[in-house]
Amino acid sequence: DVRVRFCPSPTGTPHVGLVRTAMFNWAYARHTGGTFIFRVEDTDPARDTEESFVQLLEALRWLRLDWDEGVDAGGPHGPYRQSQRYDIYRDVIARLTESGHIYESFATGEEIEARNVSLGRDAKLGYDNFERDLTDAQKAAYRAEGRSPALRLKVPTEDITFDDLVRGEITFPAGSFSDFVVVRPNGHPLYPFVNPVDDALMGVTHVLRGEDLLSSTPRQIALYHALIEIGLTDFVPRFGHLPYVMGDKNKKLSKRDPESNLFLHRERGFIPEGLVNYLSLLGWSLSHDRDVFSIEEMVAAFDVVDVNPNPARFDLKKAESINGDHIRLLGAADFAARLVPYLAAAGIVTEPLTDAEQSILEAGAPLIQERIALLGEAPGMLGSLFISGDALVHEADALASLPANTAEILAASSAALRDIPEADWAHELVHSTLAATLIEGLGLKPRIAFGPLRVAVSGRKVSPPLFESMEILGKAESLARLHALAA
Ligand code: GLU
Repeated sequence: DVRVRFCPSPTGTPHVGLVRTAMFNWAYARHTGGTFIFRVEDTDPARDTEESFVQLLEALRWLRLDWDEGVDAGGPHGPYRQSQRYDIYRDVIARLTESGHIYESFATGEEIEARNVSLGRDAKLGYDNFERDLTDAQKAAYRAEGRSPALRLKVPTEDITFDDLVRGEITFPAGSFSDFVVVRPNGHPLYPFVNPVDDALMGVTHVLRGEDLLSSTPRQIALYHALIEIGLTDFVPRFGHLPYVMGDKNKKLSKRDPESNLFLHRERGFIPEGLVNYLSLLGWSLSHDRDVFSIEEMVAAFDVVDVNPNPARFDLKKAESINGDHIRLLGAADFAARLVPYLAAAGIVTEPLTDAEQSILEAGAPLIQERIALLGEAPGMLGSLFISGDALVHEADALASLPANTAEILAASSAALRDIPEADWAHELVHSTLAATLIEGLGLKPRIAFGPLRVAVSGRKVSPPLFESMEILGKAESLARLHALAA
């Protein structure tokens, strides 16, 4: 059975590359009927924060990437926060020491450099395994100097080859790395140790993670062989290294780039369906001619062996356009409900909505569902429907766009609209009345004729459909807005 894991370190705000990794693991688990584990690698108190931990949970929940085992969910291999697993690591360290796979190493970085220089080699060559066979007397002498040892893993002397699920066969030649530190002199176990130990204990079958971790894989495989020898597990998992996500100018998208911040995308109005769809295209595709699909379709089709090893470019324009397509797929009530937090954040409504606000929302939402790519566009588009005319602000660029004959247009429109009986006030009649007056009557082009009305009604150059907006506002409010701009 497939067992995959997402195991972030809780530092900073969740970024899109990390979420893409979580999503591919999740999709692979769901596609295969396997298990998705969520483990938190919080072994660095200097960098890890509780806030970041909470945000990671929130990110996965928001995107609806549910996990079967892990933090919050529990499971047979817990605890799932590494900071709570030190007893387990101590036990594994003792067993590997006992079996001779790891050993005490006392030399400092400077001493290793000095040794390289004295042997006529490049100082930066690194550690050459010379402490593998320290005698008890030598160790005692170091201890007498007050030194504590680091622990290093004895690495094999053969090539390490594995068949990467994304990249094919990869070989690290013998000698490309030396015995590496698994536990610091202060007793603190390090990532290259705790990560594979937990993968082994949790029965992880497929390690799908970012390309940046490729260089740690041969070390982890070396450790796996030791873990097999002490009976902690009986297999080495498959590895698949997912491509880098590139930002602008073909540079790796970094945590500092604003578009890497997942929550910024949520704030701007990505919906989970749209963002999940777009993120899945960072290294994968459903078919060459379809960019828009549901998460269920993705799960049905997803296989990690189809992931493209080439760097994937994060294209915000394309992401937004896909999001817009998903917005259009929402049911009307669902769409309206999703606008509420954005309207509230913009100060247009406060939750819970009043009945009057709820009716404006339900009438106004359909006017923009076809037009926006991000929910964050809704406050600007719909805001003018919720306020009373006196509070309407005419945007500067909207005022600057008014044609010379604005006064004439507003006056003729008001006169014609006044004649529509209150009970007949509906967008079709408002439209035909204004068309007859301005286009046929005054001989104006529609763009010139309706521009000033749009500014009067919404305060903006770009707004939801004009006549529908006037229907929602009602006759009195619409006329008041025409007068206000004319004044
Ligand atoms: N905690 C590691 C990271 O966030 C996990 C890497 C891995 O998937 O092995 O980079």
